[in-house]
Amino acid sequence: MTINQSGWRPEMGGNKDGGTVSTFTGNRALMLEEPLIFEIGSTETTGVDFADGDVAGSRLGDLSRKAPIGLPGLSEPEAVRHYTRLSRQNYAIDLGLFPLGSCTMKHNPRLNERMARLPGFADVHPLQPVDTVQGALGVVEELARWLITLTGMAAVAMSPKAGAHGELCGILCIKAALEKRGEGHRKVILVPESAHGTNPATAAFAGFSVENIPATDEGRVDTAALEARLGPDVAGVMITNPNTCGLFERDLKRISDAVHAVGGYVYCDGANFNAIVGRVRPGDLGVDAMHINLHKTFSTPHGGGGPGSGPTVLSEALAPFAPLPFTQVDADGHVRLIEEETAGEDHPDSFGRMVAFHGQMGMFTRALTYILSHGADGLKQVAEDAVLNANYVLRSLEDTLDAPFAGSGPCMHEALFSDEGFPAGFSTLDVAKGLIDEGFHPMTVYFPLVVHGAMLVEPTETESKGALDQFIGALRSVAERAKAGDASLKSAPHFAPRARLDETQAARKPVLVWKDAAPTAEAAE
Ligand SMILES: *Cc1c(COP(=O)(O)O)cnc(C)c1O
Repeated sequence: MTINQSGWRPEMGGNKDGGTVSTFTGNRALMLEEPLIFEIGSTETTGVDFADGDVAGSRLGDLSRKAPIGLPGLSEPEAVRHYTRLSRQNYAIDLGLFPLGSCTMKHNPRLNERMARLPGFADVHPLQPVDTVQGALGVVEELARWLITLTGMAAVAMSPKAGAHGELCGILCIKAALEKRGEGHRKVILVPESAHGTNPATAAFAGFSVENIPATDEGRVDTAALEARLGPDVAGVMITNPNTCGLFERDLKRISDAVHAVGGYVYCDGANFNAIVGRVRPGDLGVDAMHINLHKTFSTPHGGGGPGSGPTVLSEALAPFAPLPFTQVDADGHVRLIEEETAGEDHPDSFGRMVAFHGQMGMFTRALTYILSHGADGLKQVAEDAVLNANYVLRSLEDTLDAPFAGSGPCMHEALFSDEGFPAGFSTLDVAKGLIDEGFHPMTVYFPLVVHGAMLVEPTETESKGALDQFIGALRSVAERAKAGDASLKSAPHFAPRARLDETQAARKPVLVWKDAAPTAEAAE
């Protein structure tokens, strides 16, 4: 197979000269090269020309800067173009399918944005008198009621600001409940080996010790092993359902009953709620605490696009320990904000406070908009379509890629593949890099850890069959190239602004600070 420097191959069609012709600027049509900001501006220049101020001397005293700050001076258009060009090198859910497994990267409906920008929500201040923000608090209250109804739980703490933060909230509730019972000596949290990394981290951060529970061959928690480990030192379990192999933990109710029988609590990682919303109520499965990622299931922007929000629903047993503040509606419909622990009165057992104010108002507004625009039947269909799409991907590709749990029944929201059967020298990483050339963000790779060379694909319900077919075609093509030992795949991506980086070197010796003396090429990598 012939392959030129940029990776163009005859069968790709298109403009073959684009690969061999070099341009004066290094740009390739609308693909603009972008140097570091330090290489564009110079510390000698300044982008503004203010007249000298007429304030005599500095009012900073000893604190005034002794040496120049060393930032490059850029004009406004230079600064705007720099960041706009960089932003165009990003992949985003608004550009195409974003198949990250365990992350539910779904379309963010524009209606949500419109509602969140209404001045009554966008411009309120957390310190405003409660009487002036009744509408905003009403949104928090109504969303809370939806989350309680959808999960079948007793209460919800709205303030946690991400999934992992919600995990901490739930685990701190468990800790407070144990201490209240005089059983603070229970220090062990059991976590299946397929758990998201945040689960053991949360338990350890809250002062518990973590013990792993193995998975069965079919990719679910080994219930017998879990039951065998239960005892008076166990504070609780943390189980993700659906789990990170994309499978429903059918034994969760049995596990909850066994954990409760020995005096422990059940934390469920609800980040994958998208697959079961409207179909399964975790409260019915005996769950005591579960975070919900509004930025996954309820379509609020994810990652760099916006702050997360991780409300945590709680069982009757844990509700008294929920953090402050929370909202409460009086008989006359007036929403109150409970901000203080008042012994003997409202909320004497709260474990405390997790955030300065009330949580992510903008995300609450977006999530409630999403819920109301779908309605109860629409939310149920979200789960059904998400599961249908994932199974379509799984069954379309199981003839090409190893699918370790394809025999465990239908998957839930995500399809799991592996690089089993690839020729020596080819692995999951090559498939991920090849997908970049095809214009897709790679799926989650090498996770869950229980599967060697894992590729975890979560298409979500918002993709059409046409979009899925295109993605499946691309993944099939790249996987076939890997299986055929196509050497060009080893140096993919060829069409991205940067080719394959030395990831070991980047991890071990990251160059994070621009230094004037560093050769440009090294600094730019
Ligand atoms: C995303 C995710 C988390 C963590 O949520 P953040 O909002 O990123 O902190 C936890 N568990 C699972 C299974 C997840 O997918």
